[in-house]
Amino acid sequence: MATSTLVPRLLARSIRQTCRQTYLPRTATRAASSIHPKGFTPPTNDELFELREQVSDFTRREIPPSVAHATDLNNDFPTPMWGKLGSAGFLGVTADEEYGGLGMGYQAHCVVMEELSRASGSIGLSYAAHSQLCVNQLMLHGTPEQKAAFLPELISGELVGALAMTEAQAGSDVLSMRTKATKVKGGWELSGAKLWITNGPDAHLVIVYAKTDPGARKITAFIVDTSAPGFSVTRKLDKLGMRGSNTGELAFDSVFVPDDRVLGEINGGTKVLMKGLDLERLVLSAGPLGLMRGAFDVALPYVHSRTQFGDPIGHFQLVQGKLADMYTAYQRSAALTYALAAAVDTGSAAHFARPESLFPPPADVTPAHDARVRSQDCAAAILGAAESATRVAMDAVQLLGGMGYSSEMAVGRIMRDAKLYEIGAGTSEVRRVIIGRALNRLYVDV
Ligand SMILES: Cc1cc2nc3c(=O)[nH]c(=O)nc-3n(C[C@H](O)[C@H](O)[C@H](O)COP(=O)(O)OP(=O)(O)OC[C@H]3O[C@@H](n4cnc5c(N)ncnc54)[C@H](O)[C@@H]3O)c2cc1C
Repeated sequence: MATSTLVPRLLARSIRQTCRQTYLPRTATRAASSIHPKGFTPPTNDELFELREQVSDFTRREIPPSVAHATDLNNDFPTPMWGKLGSAGFLGVTADEEYGGLGMGYQAHCVVMEELSRASGSIGLSYAAHSQLCVNQLMLHGTPEQKAAFLPELISGELVGALAMTEAQAGSDVLSMRTKATKVKGGWELSGAKLWITNGPDAHLVIVYAKTDPGARKITAFIVDTSAPGFSVTRKLDKLGMRGSNTGELAFDSVFVPDDRVLGEINGGTKVLMKGLDLERLVLSAGPLGLMRGAFDVALPYVHSRTQFGDPIGHFQLVQGKLADMYTAYQRSAALTYALAAAVDTGSAAHFARPESLFPPPADVTPAHDARVRSQDCAAAILGAAESATRVAMDAVQLLGGMGYSSEMAVGRIMRDAKLYEIGAGTSEVRRVIIGRALNRLYVDV
């Protein structure tokens, strides 16, 4: 791997320092939990606001509608974007400053994800596959040596990352995967194939899950260098939406992975995978939030410029009703995502939406502190946001009439992009199963 560069690290760090200097004293002092870097303090609202402004400046400059349109049309990720995202400091929002990250936590990551997805759903999706599925998994489970070896270049954008668990016959039932790793001298040999891997065709580094104890359904996570002999991208997929977020099928033909590239514990991959999936669902739920904002960005000016029957169509009550429903769907979803992300950042995730978190205790009482992130809450955040985004995007198409059906307008692209969030990172049905099972567990003794 090439050596890391200092400049992106300094730029990344300066974002947080600027926020800290411009706005106020630190309000919280404790590290929220093991899912945050050492010495983490939750960002203030002013810091999050400043970050949102910076991402929005970035998208105005680097992802104008013409870039979003071309990315979709050509079904190709604009490769220079990785370096630009890295220089801006956005690729390691949850990662330790020591490795060039911002160390700003999950609310901040949702903010970046939302603003990027508002500009382009597919660039947002590829961004999340890199910064959350790959970078954050390394942050959570990597050894200090693994973090030092890979994070600086992933965070600067010199390396592109991905995560591969799904296989042709193992989707919702992901633990039925067949890719296997066999112990050999000095490491492991991986054989099998993965499907639907975001960034797969471009990635330098892929976190790959493979069976290490097939009889017991035990799996292990590996950090795979895609320049290793035996690795290949079998095909790049042509998709309905999220075009330009390059998705691939990957093949592993006895790919050697050294022992020091095992991520987490041998046979401990299920824990790595499940913990990663919860936080992935939380951060990915900001994708549909951005798409809803993108739909509004087009629909709202349109209904005030388009006139029929002598009036702007935005003055008709049925049109207002649709806009009101779109607005409510966005606000409802954003409230859940950001409240959950705030609970994760402040270390009170296990109390999310319980009475003590809804009604803060008096100042002299220490609030209950339990940082465990609950799967049902993350599933609920993305379930609600994803289904809302599809609905909102379809409403935006309707509001534009014939123009909504034209490729000239972004709403059709947003509608195609939005549907993905009901499928990727576990389908809506699987999310409902997760929530349903968690509710059932409350009654095991009844
Ligand atoms: C654009 C895109 C990007 C992706 N990126 C990645 C990536 O980067 N890495 C990665 O590993 N994977 C990735 N995926 C894979 C994604 O996570 C899977 O597509 C998803 O988990 C569903 O699996 P499947 O497609 O095999 O559908 P299936 O599991 O075959 O499901 C088909 C249908 O059956 C339903 N179903 C299945 N089981 C149940 C059940 N128990 N109860 C009720 N209904 C059920 C599903 O909800 C769905 O409606 C990506 C997928 C897409 C489309």
